[in-house]
Amino acid sequence: MTDQLDRQRALVAQACRVAAARGLVDGILGHLSLRVDDEHLLIRCRSDTDTGLAFTRPSDIRLVTFDGTAGAEGELDGYRVPNELPIHIETMLSDRTFRAVAHLHPAAIVAADLAGIAIRPIYGAYDISGAWLARRGVPVYERAVLIRNSRLGKEMVAAMGGGPVVICRGHGITSAAATVAQTVLQAISLDELARMSLRVRAAGGVPRDIDERDWDDLPDLGPAFAVEAAWRHEVARLGEVGLSASPPQAGGGTPPQAGGAPTLWGRTPTSTPSGPASSPDANRVDRQSPWPP
Ligand SMILES: [Zn+2]
Repeated sequence: MTDQLDRQRALVAQACRVAAARGLVDGILGHLSLRVDDEHLLIRCRSDTDTGLAFTRPSDIRLVTFDGTAGAEGELDGYRVPNELPIHIETMLSDRTFRAVAHLHPAAIVAADLAGIAIRPIYGAYDISGAWLARRGVPVYERAVLIRNSRLGKEMVAAMGGGPVVICRGHGITSAAATVAQTVLQAISLDELARMSLRVRAAGGVPRDIDERDWDDLPDLGPAFAVEAAWRHEVARLGEVGLSASPPQAGGGTPPQAGGAPTLWGRTPTSTPSGPASSPDANRVDRQSPWPP
């Protein structure tokens, strides 16, 4: 169990670094989490040695309860849960398939929303995953507040409307999925849609939805390509932008295994008898998937 937790800490930390490398967060803000069973989650915490999301260490990922207390002895010694923990808790409680949650502050998405530009499927094969994610629109939580209690967390989840992503106006986004990698990939796709929309507007154009008949020929390219290969690229890319994919450990974690991407997805379905994987609805993990069936 300890080894598994350490692998999960490394995975969440790596996803934080990917999000930072993609410009989805800036500085010290934003956080990711992964539920480990019905009462515990791993979440990116803060400490007096915190140097920001881009430099997240596995040891920054702490085990906490859904009440925000230490999930095991010493887990919060020297660490503090983020103020916006309720974002993660309320999102996970809203749907058992949401094992992972990313709360990020992507500037382009915030800017597009403030400019009155809705995130829509304005392209197709350019990024099929992103197009499907936006097909039915991306909901907006219209309050710019710090979501620091369960009341506000529930408000945001209500705005999400059961979907995997929500824009928090004047704030950022929340992305939920079965794996931390998927939460970040969804955020990357939304960010690209926002950037393209802003470019079209800047060029004097008007972003428009793709033709309805085109959806039949925008197939699901499969997880091996759309998720696993995409994530391998994100991890490899960390090196290109000067960030290490496996930074020196500061205790409390083991680095991701080289070439072991499929084991790093948070797919740990059999070790927690009370956890989501053994629950009756475990088989509907993809229900929220924005991709075509
Ligand atoms: Zn925030």
